[in-house]
Amino acid sequence: MAHDTPARAGATRPDGTAYEVARTEEEWRAQLSPLEYHVLREAGTEAPFVGEYTDTEAVGTYSCRACGAPLFESTTKFDSHCGWPSFYSPLAGDSVLYLEDASLGRVRTEVRCASCGGHLGHVFEGEGYGTPTDQRYCINSISVRFAPEAE
Ligand SMILES: [Zn+2]
Repeated sequence: MAHDTPARAGATRPDGTAYEVARTEEEWRAQLSPLEYHVLREAGTEAPFVGEYTDTEAVGTYSCRACGAPLFESTTKFDSHCGWPSFYSPLAGDSVLYLEDASLGRVRTEVRCASCGGHLGHVFEGEGYGTPTDQRYCINSISVRFAPEAE
């Protein structure tokens, strides 16, 4: 049997505990589209300015596309002009977790879904966007699914 390249997301949290939503890579592959799988499970990056939520301004909640956990509120979304949906804060501090990412020759902070370990994007600090936290959660549209707030 051909052996797949190990996906970077992994089955356990950095501290060794199991994710609430734990599936095998075969199960994730069956559930997700190839691009969703690449971004969420292999820490890929969607091309800038093409994601479906880059310019979304509607009121509602962004949840993990892999496991459905609520991650970001539209009230913290801001227009960063960076090409990806940008938030200044996660919905709750424990809804995401952080990993050091030294790829691309510099250290960045990767943001993952705390429930399933799916890759969401990166968080940057001190860029001067004038948001309450001075942080920019740069999130792949394909890693999340938007649900408008019910009237
Ligand atoms: Zn998730």
